[in-house]
Order: sequence, then structure tokens, then C-alpha cells
Amino acid sequence: MQTKITTSAIRRRDFLRGAVQTGASSVALLAARRGLAFDTKRHFAPVKVARNRVIREVVGLRPYRAAGFVVEAQRFGSKFLVHNYGHGGAGVTLSWGTASLSVDLAKDFLTTRKSPTRFAVLGCGVSGLSTALLLQRRYQNGPGTVTIYAKDLPPNTTSNVAGAWWSPTSAYEEPVVTARFIEQFRAACRISNRAFQLLVGPEYGVRWIDTLELMRHEASLQRELTGGNDLYYQTEVHRDPDTYFGFPFVREYKSMLIEPSIYLSALLRDFYIAGGRVVVKEFKSRAELARLREPVIFNCTGLGSRALFDDKDLTPVRGQIEVLLPQPEIDYCYLSSGYMFPRRDGIVLGGTWDHDDWSLAPNPEQANGILEAHIEIMKGLRPAA
Ligand SMILES: Cc1cc2nc3c(=O)[nH]c(=O)nc-3n(C[C@H](O)[C@H](O)[C@H](O)COP(=O)(O)OP(=O)(O)OC[C@H]3O[C@@H](n4cnc5c(N)ncnc54)[C@H](O)[C@@H]3O)c2cc1C
Repeated sequence: MQTKITTSAIRRRDFLRGAVQTGASSVALLAARRGLAFDTKRHFAPVKVARNRVIREVVGLRPYRAAGFVVEAQRFGSKFLVHNYGHGGAGVTLSWGTASLSVDLAKDFLTTRKSPTRFAVLGCGVSGLSTALLLQRRYQNGPGTVTIYAKDLPPNTTSNVAGAWWSPTSAYEEPVVTARFIEQFRAACRISNRAFQLLVGPEYGVRWIDTLELMRHEASLQRELTGGNDLYYQTEVHRDPDTYFGFPFVREYKSMLIEPSIYLSALLRDFYIAGGRVVVKEFKSRAELARLREPVIFNCTGLGSRALFDDKDLTPVRGQIEVLLPQPEIDYCYLSSGYMFPRRDGIVLGGTWDHDDWSLAPNPEQANGILEAHIEIMKGLRPAA
């Protein structure tokens, strides 16, 4: 529905804004006349970090490849196979982008076929769901055209563990990547950023959020933001440790925060509404894939691709998060040595990064380290006047 804004509504709004401004300046004037300090500085609501506020501890294994994600197509016997896996610490962020690039790779193959094609998507995390939805949008030929086959469904995927802040960080190592990868990566970042913007709102659990990068060294301000500075909006630099948690240099910008439980359920719902089918199944070997009835297969199995496709470059990077009771008043997130993301289902504290560690058990020492680091950050917060 479109809202029509009338001239009188605008005038009324201008009037109200004027009234508020006049009111605010008179209060300031009055305060100044009376010799009162009028505090115009920004205040951040404190995150209440305490052991007894931890509602859950979660561990996830990021599907990491130093050389970056794999988005490529190959012949697989009589079938056409497209890979879309290995997104490291940025799988949610990149999801629409790599889904779009991988669906594009099937275009030429599909033009050679006369009859409507059925697609198999392996995996029901964020990569599989985004790929399946794009296939439905581009090639829907009736119910059952796209089938997702997966061992685990939301909420039991790595995608549900993600902090789910929009930023394509921790996805590759600079010296190892190819020029082709960088081209794909840059394209994926842009496609995905735009796609998430269109999903902002409570229905998909996506919202804009002020992000603060808390820094000790001025040189860090020069670092280009991952994916390109143009993907982060309204960037500002603050040199005001009193306001910004005691940190002398802070870069602030707007990015997006995604609620994985809401978001993944919404994608799954959209997939079903469009006639999609889900089969719970674990593939133990490639021979089983060859027996699928679908001629086109998209592999979105995340870390599962290591065993299924024998990709030894794909390794787990373990991440542990501590989730505190929700605090709806927290309207910012920050990054320092770790991160704080104020999701609706809880305040997410994390940032651990353990290469080649398959353990899914929470580590109590890491838990203490995470909590202590954030208690320290909160000590730098100036109390509200
Ligand atoms: C602690 C932590 C914090 C993170 N924070 C962020 C963040 O802030 N932002 C961000 O963008 N990303 C973040 N990530 C990264 C993100 O979670 C991953 O990159 C992303 O979830 C990968 O999605 P996926 O769909 O490829 O894999 P998954 O979510 O792992 O899904 C894989 C699917 O394939 C299925 N599967 C696997 N093997 C088989 C098989 N043999 N047979 C059948 N099915 C199979 C699984 O059951 C599942 O359905 C974080 C990750 C962790 C662990």
C-alpha cells in the first residue's frame, strides 16, 4: 500500500519539528542562563555483562577456505553440478550474492534443455535456502521444481549459530586468493547488500544498526572496510574516548543485523509457499548424488563439502558465543577484539576464531575470557548525566 503524504501533513510535520527545536533551544538557553551544564553528548545504554545473565553458550564451525568460497560449475556424469560453499565467517552476509552467481552458472546448461528442469539443492542453511529461492524465482515450472535435500534443517544449522551482522569479513586470506575470486567476491557483496536492504523489517528480522569499531591506534582508521567502504553507510570518525568506551579512535557506520531464527524460518516459509519440497537426507557419498532424479544439483552443504566432495582446503574455524538476556534498549553494536550484537533473542558476545578445531563443546575458559573482555569495555562507558 502506498501512503499519500499531503502538503498539510508536511506543513504540520515542519511545524512540529520547529516546535520541538524551539523547545529544545529554550531549554538549553535556560540551562545556560542558570549556569547549568547542558549535556549534549551521546549516551550509550550499558550492556549488562554478568555470568548470571548468560542464557546460552553456542559453538559453531565456520566453513572456511583460505582461498575463499567455491562458486563454480562442473559436469557430474549426466548431471550438471554447481558448487556454492565455503563462506567462512561471512556466509549470511554473502548468501544472496553467491546464490545469484551460482544460479547464473546454470544458465547456459539450461538453455540446451527443452523440457522443464528440476533442481536439487543440497543443504538447508542460508546458502541452500537463498539458492533454492532464487531458482524458484527464475525457473519456477510448477510445484516440486526445486527440492532441498539436507541432513539438518533450521534451527539446527551453522547458519543459525551466526552472529549475523552484515559484513563480508573473515571469508578468505588476501595472499592466497585469485583475481577471479576477488571479482566474484566483490560482485557477491554488492548483490547481497542490496538484497538484504530489501528485506529490512520485522518479517525477515533484518534491521539497520549503528556499528562502532573501537580502536586503540589511529592507523587502524585507514583500513578499508571489507568488501569496500561504499557498502557501509554514514561513516564517521570519533576521537572522543569519554563518550566512546574509553577508546581514542572509533569508526562508526550503519550496517545491518540479521536475526537468524526469524530470518531462516522466513526463507523456509517462502520456499514452501512457492511450492518447494524438503527431504531430510544425509548424503554419505557422491554415488548417492548420482542417483538423484534431478539433472541439476546445487551443492550448498557448507562444511559438509569437505567429506562429500573431498575438499581438504575446507576446514572448520570454531567460534563460541555467549548469549546474554535480551536488552531491547541496546541500539548499537561494537567490534573490538570481539563483538557485541544486540539481537532480539539475546545479546550476542563472541569473536573466537579457532582454526581446525572440530569441538562443539563450549569451552569454560573461553566463556570467561569473552565475558571479561566485555566487562572491561563497559567500564569505559561514561555514566549517563
Ligand atoms: C560463531 C559464528 C559467528 C558467525 N557470525 C557471522 C556473522 O556475523 N555474519 C555472517 O555473515 N556469517 C557469520 N558466520 C558464518 C556463517 O554462519 C556461515 O558462513 C554460514 O552459516 C554458512 O552457511 P551454509 O548454508 O553454507 O552452511 P550451513 O549453515 O552449515 O548449512 C549446511 C547445510 O548442508 C547440510 N549438509 C551438510 N552436509 C550434508 C550431507 N552430507 N548430506 C546432506 N546435507 C548436508 C546441513 O545439514 C545444512 O542443512 C558465523 C559463524 C559462526 C560459527
